[in-house]
Amino acid sequence: MQRTFAKVLNIEQLTSHYFLITLMAPQLARTVQPGQFLHVRTGEQLDPLLRRPFSIHDWHSGEGTMQLLFQVKGKGTQLLSRKQKGEQLDVLGPLGNGFAITKKKGKALLIGGGIGEAPLWGLARTLKEAHWEVTIVLGAAKQTLLARHNDFSQWGETYIATEDGSVGFKGRVTNLLPLVAAEHLDQVYACGPKPLLAALYTWTNSNNLPLQVSLDEVMACGMGVCLGCVQPVGRKEAPVLAKVCTDGPVFSAEEVVWDD
Ligand SMILES: Cc1cc2nc3c(=O)[nH]c(=O)nc-3n(C[C@H](O)[C@H](O)[C@H](O)COP(=O)(O)OP(=O)(O)OC[C@H]3O[C@@H](n4cnc5c(N)ncnc54)[C@H](O)[C@@H]3O)c2cc1C
Repeated sequence: MQRTFAKVLNIEQLTSHYFLITLMAPQLARTVQPGQFLHVRTGEQLDPLLRRPFSIHDWHSGEGTMQLLFQVKGKGTQLLSRKQKGEQLDVLGPLGNGFAITKKKGKALLIGGGIGEAPLWGLARTLKEAHWEVTIVLGAAKQTLLARHNDFSQWGETYIATEDGSVGFKGRVTNLLPLVAAEHLDQVYACGPKPLLAALYTWTNSNNLPLQVSLDEVMACGMGVCLGCVQPVGRKEAPVLAKVCTDGPVFSAEEVVWDD
């Protein structure tokens, strides 16, 4: 983990909600694992005081570049969306434990809800480069809450679900899954809102499939000090608290204590 001032090479607005920012950060790009994140100082002033975490969307160690895909939510992401080419961004990273690639080769299903597609891009690329067979399912309430759904197909067969039917299957990801998931899967990976991840765990558990989830909890320090992002894991009757920032953000779904 390092603190770096990364030069903004490009910033592009992809939809009314989503931006893609490309950074030059050669030292950081050398060591990224899919699913890790950067902790970004979004403003120049004291407010917002805390850094904001963003999954590393993609990285290229040869070129020294990294990308973040982000959704504008509040002050921090608004400030980030106004960065200009050539500016320097104060970033810490790569942080956290990313997705584990459990076998040399296999069949993987990647599921993203809304901005949960962010960490799945680099994961899909990594798996494809390792000759895994990759299927991707992306879902959101509506089309503008998906960003790169048309581009994901370069990494594997891609299916889309929107609740309003503005693109792809009309309905929820969990309704689409039984129609498109392969019979045999070696690993399922997911990122998205907690209720989606909980529903996915019910599905993978009943189909005896291993699921890794990235939990994008609100967090503060990002380094395991403040305990602002703890998540109960272990036995439901006697859970222990894991720090999403340093023990995660990726967990095996069976470790997580899901709310009823
Ligand atoms: C490990 C990790 C990886 C993440 N990766 C990405 C990513 O790749 N792209 C991306 O757009 N966002 C990502 N997030 C979420 C992102 O960090 C927050 O959206 C961001 O910090 C909001 O900052 P803000 O100042 O704009 O909004 P704030 O003013 O802090 O909050 C605005 C609203 O957003 C809500 N909010 C804040 N943080 C989160 C969160 N983590 N999840 C859901 N709602 C939140 C707040 O409750 C509030 O309602 C990630 C979070 C974590 C922990």
